[in-house]
Formats: sequence, C-alpha cells, structure tokens
Amino acid sequence: MPQDTSQVTDHGGGVWGIKVPIPDNPLGHTLVHVLDTDRGPVLVDTGWDDPESWDTLVAGLATLGIAIADVHGVVITHHHPDHHGLSGRVREASGAWIAMHAADTEVVVRTRSSEPGVWFDYMSAKLAAAGAPEEHIAPLRAARASGRMRTLPGLRAAVPDREIVPAELLPLAGRRLRAIWTPGHTPGHVCLHLEEEHPANLPGNGRLFSGDHLLPGISPHIGLYEAPEDTRVTDPLGDYLDSLERIGRLAPAEVLPAHQHAFTDAPARVRELLDHHEERLAGLWALLAEPLTPWGLAERMEWNRPWEQIPYGSRNIAVSEAEAHLRRLVKQGRAEAVPGTDPVTYRAV
Ligand SMILES: [Zn+2]
Ligand SMILES: [Zn+2]
Repeated sequence: MPQDTSQVTDHGGGVWGIKVPIPDNPLGHTLVHVLDTDRGPVLVDTGWDDPESWDTLVAGLATLGIAIADVHGVVITHHHPDHHGLSGRVREASGAWIAMHAADTEVVVRTRSSEPGVWFDYMSAKLAAAGAPEEHIAPLRAARASGRMRTLPGLRAAVPDREIVPAELLPLAGRRLRAIWTPGHTPGHVCLHLEEEHPANLPGNGRLFSGDHLLPGISPHIGLYEAPEDTRVTDPLGDYLDSLERIGRLAPAEVLPAHQHAFTDAPARVRELLDHHEERLAGLWALLAEPLTPWGLAERMEWNRPWEQIPYGSRNIAVSEAEAHLRRLVKQGRAEAVPGTDPVTYRAV
C-alpha cells in the first residue's frame, strides 16, 4: 500500500503524489505527481497559483529531498489554473521546461493576449444566444463598464516551451511516458501513460496519469470549448466519450488522477461514466419534447442542487454543459434547431 505522510504519497517505482490545495474550492486539492528521471524530477501538473499552494508544493518536494531548483521539467495535462497555475513559478525557480498539447497552448496564448473586455463581450453575446435572461447578463455588462476585469484566471498563465505530441514518448531519460490525447474536458487535454510494470505487480497495462479526464468519483465538466473569434463547430462531449473509450481499452493497472485519489479498474469507471452520459442524453432528449433554448434546458436539467440555488458563475458552467449535450444530440440526429427561432430553440427528433 502507498505510504501516506500527510501531503505526500509514495506510489512506488519513482512516482509520488503531492496534495496541493486549491483555495476556496470544493475539490480541495490538486494531486501534483513527481516522476523521477535520470535527468532529475519531472512534475505532472503544478497546482493553483497561490502562496499557500506554492509553499505546500515546495514543502512536499523537500520531504522527498528535492529542492524546487532541481525540477527538470513540467508536463501539463491541460491548461486549467488548478493544473497549470504554478508552472511559471516552477520554471522561474528551476529553469525547467514546460510541455503542453498544442490545442491547450493555443488557449493559453489566446487568453494572455486577449483584452478582458473582449472576453466579457464574448460571454455576454454567448449567454444571450443561449437564451439567458437579461438579469443574468446585466452583471457582466456592468463589470465591463466599471473596469473590474483584471482578476480573470489565466491572464498570466505561463506559455509552454515544449509541445506534447500525441502518441509519442516524452523525452524523459530512463522512463517510458507516452502522451495520449484525450480531448473533451479541454481541447488539448492529455493523459500520460507510464509504460512500465506496476511496482506492486498489479495486473494491467502500466500506470496512467489521467488529469481531469478520468476521476474516481467526479464526472468532469464538459462544456463548449470557450473560444472568442473561433467559428469551428466543435463537439466536446463527443470528443470526451471517444477519449474515454480509448482509455478504457488501454486498461491501465492503476490510475493516478489529478484530484481525489489513485484507483484501479479503469474500464469499470469508464463504463460508469459512459452510462452516466448516455442516461443524461436520454433525459435531455425527453425534456426536448418541448422546444427549449440551451438556458431553458439547463434550468430543467438535474444538477447537484435546485437551479435557484446554483450560484451565478456555476450557472454559466451549467449552460455550457447543456450546450455541449445539445451539440451531441444534434450530431446524433436526436435533436434539431427549430427554424426561425432567436435565441435558437431545440427540439427532439
Ligand atoms: Zn480541468
Ligand atoms: Zn482539475
């Protein structure tokens, strides 16, 4: 069994996990993984950009006899701030390279260079098109008008200096770590497959750093890929379900996710998530007996609490998730846009 000394877990075979807190977030922490290589330690994800998170990361590495300056490289599963937040600080302190899939690097570069105002305009327009009521959109317009826009996460995110190429081995001395592109949660999410015997000889195919793609007790958020000025019609839920099936077929002996805890039997967890989404799609299809906007659909979907109690920001995430499910239903030929409606409503076919 892995030894758990408060913040640090020894997973064996030169792999450790450090619990790095995410401030004010029900998820609690990001599991930053440390992989020993012949050129020095490599981190898989880094954690939220916050002084306490940084101190926890540095202290966790110290218990392993690693100074932050020793870090050789940083491999990022996806661009979200609970994974990529501290990468810049790690690079500054160590000179480590940072690697990310090109599609997520594109998001980082775009976010850094975009005027916050552009993002607010994009969100306002997007919510209006989704059928959000005026009182929901008004605060965004007010924030833009007052200039309270400098706190968007990701504006200062580090630009990676290496690309993670799907299906290729990362250039890590003495280790076999292969990138598996698993789009869905973000366009450039990757899982990282450690193609080595399990240190406790658990049956299966190596170990998998799964990021947010496959978690033991949470179904990751699948919304639209947020991209102002991008006119591509994407199907993130379709991407996600395809990526899940591929990970299920890989059948790793153990999964090391970026939240919660390590687990085995990935194919069973994949099956649960596929069933969950199939049920959800069937439920939404039934709701569309009456034509609904994405907002109207989100209001009627089942969430972890009644719609009236869902906070403002979470409603935006919820409507994005409703839209991702609508895209999938349309793509499957189970729903269609009602011609001549504005905002567009959708109905079951
Ligand atoms: Zn994420
Ligand atoms: Zn996460």
